[in-house]
Amino acid sequence: MKKATRQHTKQHNRNLVLRTIFAHDSVSRAEIARVTHLTRTTVSEIVSALLEEGLVEEVGVGESIGGKSPILLSIAADSRYLIGLNLARDKFIGAIVNLRGEISETVEAPVLDNNGEKALDLVFKLIDKLLKKRIKPIVGIGIGTPGLVNTREGIVVNAVNLDWRDLPLGQMLEKKYKLPVSVLNDSQATAIGEFVYGSEHTSDENLIVINMKHGIGSGILINGRLFQGDGGGAGEIGHVVVQGNNELCSCGKRGCLETISSARAVIKKMDFNSLDQVQEAFDSGNKNAVRVVSSAAYHLGMVLANLIGTLNIHRIVLTGDMTQFGPVWLNAVSDAMRNAVLARMSEYTQLELGALDYRACILGASAYLLLDDYSLLFTLENNHGIN
Ligand SMILES: [Zn+2]
Repeated sequence: MKKATRQHTKQHNRNLVLRTIFAHDSVSRAEIARVTHLTRTTVSEIVSALLEEGLVEEVGVGESIGGKSPILLSIAADSRYLIGLNLARDKFIGAIVNLRGEISETVEAPVLDNNGEKALDLVFKLIDKLLKKRIKPIVGIGIGTPGLVNTREGIVVNAVNLDWRDLPLGQMLEKKYKLPVSVLNDSQATAIGEFVYGSEHTSDENLIVINMKHGIGSGILINGRLFQGDGGGAGEIGHVVVQGNNELCSCGKRGCLETISSARAVIKKMDFNSLDQVQEAFDSGNKNAVRVVSSAAYHLGMVLANLIGTLNIHRIVLTGDMTQFGPVWLNAVSDAMRNAVLARMSEYTQLELGALDYRACILGASAYLLLDDYSLLFTLENNHGIN
């Protein structure tokens, strides 16, 4: 019992040190000790082990603040790799990602119809293709999928477009590839990607990321941790009814946010084939296009006001196709939002555009494996499945 506790503490301390090194471009042992409240001796011991594992490297000397110049440490970006997949509506994209979130190989395949078995086959094919690139060692697989997901169990509860219902995707992939697997809703994965690798965030910040594509979803981070709610569906704002007498939604209800504010909705309302056509009409001042896009922005703004009223989160990132309407759209969203919530609540709210496009989902799905527990970085000897 005592031993187990000691082992646990050791792992906890190691995670603390790793998290600190991850959070900095480079950092000294003294600074790690200051941030983690661990003793200098403990930090030195852990760092020695990490250097030996090849996970951390010494990258130079920092400025002296009296006394000897400190040696700076950094994560060895290419010491381990993860596979990330973004199962987007019309195509699946997979990538190999290093420990700094740099993508080295990308593969993609079009999704031709919504046949559940074929979609699953495509996931296997993409992972096989990435493994054939012989970039090693790969320590985990992260999947961002549309639909409702039970992340803890790795089950896709319901993904209409992919024809998946109660699919134990995590378990299937773990069995096949002998690697840890995370399965996340794509908007939640996108939120993590923007949080970890997008514009500067402190590691305990709150953040909402709205994903405006064919559909609409969002991901909510509270104190730097993904908040999934009791049923895993936190942030599923696309299927909240905002205008009851509006169009029929794919979910069976009428007037969901998605039927007004999504890319699909504005294309359909304009009777066009692509968002670029809407954009063109909008830019040339076409009255109908301006009305449709303004209405899309307005209703999104109202939903954001509700989120602010509920969560009082100051930073909101907007990402996805609809952001191509640029500052005019963003300002319309912002105005609607600010008009619908207490001034004191929206005063400090910052609306910004995402930095990572489709990569956010891939990076977030893979980073999720590392966020709470770094132990998978140390299980190399168990990766018999990979060669
Ligand atoms: Zn709906």
